[in-house]
Amino acid sequence: MNASADEPLLLTPGPLTTSRAVKEAMLRDWGSRDQAFIGMNRAVLDQLAALAGGSGMVAVPMQGSGSFAVEAMLGTFLPPYGRLLVCVNGAYGSRMVDMVRRHGRSVTVLEQPEDQPTDVAALDRMLAADPAITHVAVVQCETTSGILNPVEDVARTVAARGRSLLIDAMSAFGALPLDAGAVPFDAMAASSNKCLEGVPGMGFVVAREQALAACAGQAPALCLDLQAQHEAMVKTGQWRFTPPTHVVAALAQALAQHRAEGGVAGRGARYRENCRILVEGMRALGFATLLDDAVQAPIIVTFRMPDAPGFSFERFYEALRQRGYAIYPGKLTVAPSFRVGCIGALGAEQMRAAVAAIGEVAAEMGLARPAAA
Ligand SMILES: *Cc1c(COP(=O)(O)O)cnc(C)c1O
Repeated sequence: MNASADEPLLLTPGPLTTSRAVKEAMLRDWGSRDQAFIGMNRAVLDQLAALAGGSGMVAVPMQGSGSFAVEAMLGTFLPPYGRLLVCVNGAYGSRMVDMVRRHGRSVTVLEQPEDQPTDVAALDRMLAADPAITHVAVVQCETTSGILNPVEDVARTVAARGRSLLIDAMSAFGALPLDAGAVPFDAMAASSNKCLEGVPGMGFVVAREQALAACAGQAPALCLDLQAQHEAMVKTGQWRFTPPTHVVAALAQALAQHRAEGGVAGRGARYRENCRILVEGMRALGFATLLDDAVQAPIIVTFRMPDAPGFSFERFYEALRQRGYAIYPGKLTVAPSFRVGCIGALGAEQMRAAVAAIGEVAAEMGLARPAAA
C-alpha cells in the first residue's frame, strides 16, 4: 500500500488499512445457511478461541462494532445481583461504566489519570473492602492514550480475591499476548478490525465455556445475549440474526495472513517496529509523547499538541490528509494532543514515509526543531 490523497493510509485506532487480499475476500455473496459459510464461520471462531489460549474457551461473535461486543460481554456476564468494578484510565473504561449503568446494574469505579496504568494495589484494596463486587473489568490497551495496562497482574489479583475478570482487549488482541491458560479471565472482547486487520463489522467475545453456560437468561438485551448466540451456534452452526457474511469472509483471510506472519509474536513484532520508527522519528522532529516508554503499547501513540504560534491541528491534519495519511485527534482530558496509529496493514516503509510527511508539514507550518545536541 502506498499513500495517496484518494485512498489515504489510516494511521488511526480503527477502521484500519487492510490488505488487498482481505478486501478481495469480500467479492462474493454467502448464504448464511450454506454449509460453505457455516464451515468458514466455524473455522474462524475456532481460530479466535485458539488465539486466546484455547482449551475450555469458546469464541462467540457479535454483529456490530467492537462496543457491541463489549456491551454484550458486560450484559451477559454480570448477573442482576452482581457488582462490577471498572478500572478506568480512558474513554473505553468510562464507556463500560456507562453501559453497566444503562443496564441498571451496580458499578464501582477505580479511576486514574489517562497517563497512568491501572493501580493493581489500589484494585486489591477495593476488592478487599467491598465483598459485593463480583466482577472486574479492565482495558488491556486503553486506546484513548495508547497506554498498556498490567492485565496479567490485574488477572492474578482478581483471581486471588475470588472474583471474575472481563477484559476489553479490543486494540491489543492478535498483537499482544493474552493467554487464558496463563492469565485467568472469564471473558475478553475484541473485533474483526484492529490488530487482526480484518474489515470492521463484527466483534467477538472469547469466554470460558463453563462461565458462559452459567449466564443463561441474564443479558438485559435480547440481541446482545452472548449465551443465546453461543447456544444457537452450537445447535445450528448459525448466528441468531443475519450475519455480516462478507466481514466473516474477510476475517478468515485476515486470520490466514496473521498465521503466515507468525501469529501474535509476528504481528506484535511488526507493530513494535512501526511504533519505534514513529516515536524516534517524531521525537527527532521535536514532538513529545504523552506516555513514558515503559507504559506505551505498540498500538497507537499520543503526541502532545505543539505549543507553537503557527500551529493549528486542522491545518496539520488536512495537509497530512492531502499527502495520503489520516491521523486522529486526541480525546484526552489531561493534555491537548493528537494520535498516530501503528497498526493495520502497514510496515516500516509506510511508517518512515509517514514521519517524512509529518516533517514536511511541520516545516511548512514553521514548527521549530529541537536544538541540535
Ligand atoms: C476500538 C475500541 C473499542 C470499540 O470501539 P468501536 O468504535 O465500537 O469499534 C473498544 N475498546 C477499545 C479499547 C478500543 O480500542
